[in-house]
Amino acid sequence: MARKGLIVQKFGGSSVANVDRIRNVARRIASYYKKGYSLVVVVSALGDTTDELVELAHTINPSPSPREMDMLMATGEQASSSLLTMALHRLKIPAVALTGPQSGIYTDKDHTRAKIVKIIPKRIKEEIKKGNVVIVAGFQGLSPEGDIATLGRGGSDLTAVALAKALNADLCEIFTDVEGIYTADPRIVKDARKLDVITYDEMLEMASLGAQVMQARSIEVGKKFCVPIVVRSSLSNKPGTLITEEVEGMEGAVVRGVSLDRSEAKITVCGVPDRPGIAAKIFKELSKAGISVDVIVQNVSSEGKTDISFTVDKADLKRSIDILAKVVKQIKAKDVITDENICRVSIVGVGMRNYPGVAATMFDVLAKNKINIDMISTSEISISCIIKDKDGKKAVNALHKAFGLSKGRKAKKAR
Ligand code: ASP
Ligand code: MG
Repeated sequence: MARKGLIVQKFGGSSVANVDRIRNVARRIASYYKKGYSLVVVVSALGDTTDELVELAHTINPSPSPREMDMLMATGEQASSSLLTMALHRLKIPAVALTGPQSGIYTDKDHTRAKIVKIIPKRIKEEIKKGNVVIVAGFQGLSPEGDIATLGRGGSDLTAVALAKALNADLCEIFTDVEGIYTADPRIVKDARKLDVITYDEMLEMASLGAQVMQARSIEVGKKFCVPIVVRSSLSNKPGTLITEEVEGMEGAVVRGVSLDRSEAKITVCGVPDRPGIAAKIFKELSKAGISVDVIVQNVSSEGKTDISFTVDKADLKRSIDILAKVVKQIKAKDVITDENICRVSIVGVGMRNYPGVAATMFDVLAKNKINIDMISTSEISISCIIKDKDGKKAVNALHKAFGLSKGRKAKKAR
């Protein structure tokens, strides 16, 4: 049978978490196959397998070598890809499982967070020609040393998007346990709406701002090569959300979504001498330790002293405090105080570029809800406020409503 188009599909860990779900995924693949599509299917490890492997490794050795970590973690996807292929064979669908290296995915040597440097999909193309559905173990490739390397957590998304580009696929479908990208987390906002479309840039902001549906790196690659991506549920037939380039007047929305990120903590270095080179010193020491710093605010100084506040990942807080304790002595600052009870609420939308007053509306909504803003940061298409953690849900709901994102409503334009 002549095949129609080529689709790359990716099924996440929750979509293949148990035998029933693996069978369900196999049936879905079979139905596409019978419609005449050529299929390359990328699969994640079953359920929480990767987390379990990481934990196991750390029980054996608290600082395992990155090379061996990759040897270990890559097995998760090898198991799921072969099991899914066996399920397809039972449905009489010709299929073959390939590891990342067998698929011609070449990476750099940065174990546990390797980058894809090139893809030579010769074997995949041969298998497609033979009529096989190709099931690729996600999240892995071959390093320059000939070792298996993994692509960072959530890396199966990257495998899928990069393969879609390398194979010039017609579509890249990301199947997951939600129905697409929402205007806000439906667990927080009852009337959150599923979006039909979102731009790569908005999706990138949403991904990095805490809406963890897809790995951010995979969206960057999608954007760079204009790979059409659809995020949809593996448990229903609903159409999902298309991630695409910006189209003029797309849904006419100023704000596309509201996100909440509770992963950061705030650090304030108090009584910092206000002279050149001091901020550089503080942030250089943190960056040397691989700690990335976000929202930074320096207060007005009085009597030659100032306070500098910024946020870091909660996971980096302890290390940051240790580093800053030394820096404080060197620069003769007063002390360091921290606050873990904060969150970041953000509004995202390419439309806000063309509408003044969006920030003012956001601040106004927060004020009316008696929510104090601690810090503010903006990008061209997003505005984030750091507020008290306990106010997070209230803020997201209020902003979602104020910007007209609730179900059934037409998106409202700012004045
Ligand atoms: N199994 C890997 C992880 O959990 C890769 C993925 O799921 O995309 O990070
Ligand atoms: Mg995952």
